[in-house]
Amino acid sequence: MDLNQLWQSTLAELELQISRPNFLTWLKNSRLIKKEDDGKILIGLGNNFAKEWVENKYHKMVFEVLRSFDETIKKVEYTVLMEENKTPKDKENVSAKISSNRQSSLPELKIDPETNLHPRYNLNSFVVGSSNELAYAATMAITKDVGKKYNPLFIYGGTGLGKTHLIQAAGNEIKNLYKNKVKVKYVSSEKFVNDVVWAIRNKRMDDVKTRYRNVDVLIIDDIQFIGGKERSEEEFFHTFNVLYENNKQIIISSDRPPAAIPTLEERLRSRFEGGMIADITYPDYEMRMAIIKTKLQEKNTDLPNEICDLIANKVQRNIREIEGILNKILFYKEVKNIEPTSKIIEDVINNAIQQSSKNITGNQVVKAVADFYEIPQSDLISRSRKKKIVEPRQVTAFLLRDILDMSYPDIGDKLGKRDHTTIIYSYEKISQEINKNQKLNHKITLIKENIYKN
Ligand code: ADP
Ligand code: MG
Repeated sequence: MDLNQLWQSTLAELELQISRPNFLTWLKNSRLIKKEDDGKILIGLGNNFAKEWVENKYHKMVFEVLRSFDETIKKVEYTVLMEENKTPKDKENVSAKISSNRQSSLPELKIDPETNLHPRYNLNSFVVGSSNELAYAATMAITKDVGKKYNPLFIYGGTGLGKTHLIQAAGNEIKNLYKNKVKVKYVSSEKFVNDVVWAIRNKRMDDVKTRYRNVDVLIIDDIQFIGGKERSEEEFFHTFNVLYENNKQIIISSDRPPAAIPTLEERLRSRFEGGMIADITYPDYEMRMAIIKTKLQEKNTDLPNEICDLIANKVQRNIREIEGILNKILFYKEVKNIEPTSKIIEDVINNAIQQSSKNITGNQVVKAVADFYEIPQSDLISRSRKKKIVEPRQVTAFLLRDILDMSYPDIGDKLGKRDHTTIIYSYEKISQEINKNQKLNHKITLIKENIYKN
């Protein structure tokens, strides 16, 4: 197998796991230099910082992704690339097909330094369905009427459901429509916090003020991270007010609604609630199919319908995961030249699902549900049939099965020695309910978020 292909596939996967700015900063100029007979891989990185950073922060991820493609890899080491290595000479060896595909899955890798927006996110490539139509419609509306229609626009939803895509696409669309007449800035709330911390330390608060108050559209991603960071909240509050009073557009994303960010200051919360709040929930089957088809088209390739159907059926909760699985399957097809059988596909899917539920215990699930509903854990195990407790208990049964794949009898034991038929009933009830009841769907997203975060 060609090392370059292996690395390109690894990068495609890493790109889905690491935040885009980080991916670009640390991995953009990387190369797989060699693989030795004892299974040692040497990765070259652009400079010393990148080497240190990747070694310390991403080593485990890099190693696991590499190994998922090639099990004979035993060890990964890093080095700084010399100048001559930066222009790979073995590029011509890469089969034409895979290189053109990978290029389309790793498009130009250029974040606009002024707006911080990534060109890959646009409204054309955003699939719209019942789970995101409100968020999409609100986004479209503000691109036509910047700063006046819905301000702020607050979009929330679980991980990997398209928040970043949508709000960046909004920025790109506004930029396209109004060109230089409108100044757009996208920032993750982590970056915002870092900027504030840096400014405080260096006594340069004015820099931060000009940077963020001097725009027409401020897009801030994952605002939940700002909760509890007092100085940043304070600074954001003032920035928000200045922009708001001047009819500048503010677009915010979060993994949960404003009311559910416990550490958020009241005054910020009420500001957020004064605008338009739209959620993104889990995509339904048709939408998952549409997303798979769109992604394949973007990569200039295709897969048989049965395979798309299998993925759409199995991966229900996370669009990022769907993309990761597609990349792996395409790797088999285009790099290894193996036509992916349903056995291969199932393995890839199960692997991905296991990866994301690794290290989670039954007790964590029980605790997360109890915390969410604000009831004692003992209630979930008790015999009580109070309405207040029935739903949480059914949700617990559902999640134990869904996340941990526990057997019905084991779940029954865990939940106060209940009969396995009761558990089957609970599981099926919630599985069906999720597709009909948005509110419940959303609660489950939030609980899962909390489980995965810890
Ligand atoms: P979030 O910010 O909510 O965690 P992202 O916006 O990063 O999620 O989305 C994860 C991946 O799924 C991205 O690669 C994105 O392009 C893709 N994606 C999410 N929603 C859609 C959609 N509706 N149509 C097409 N691609 C989507
Ligand atoms: Mg995001």
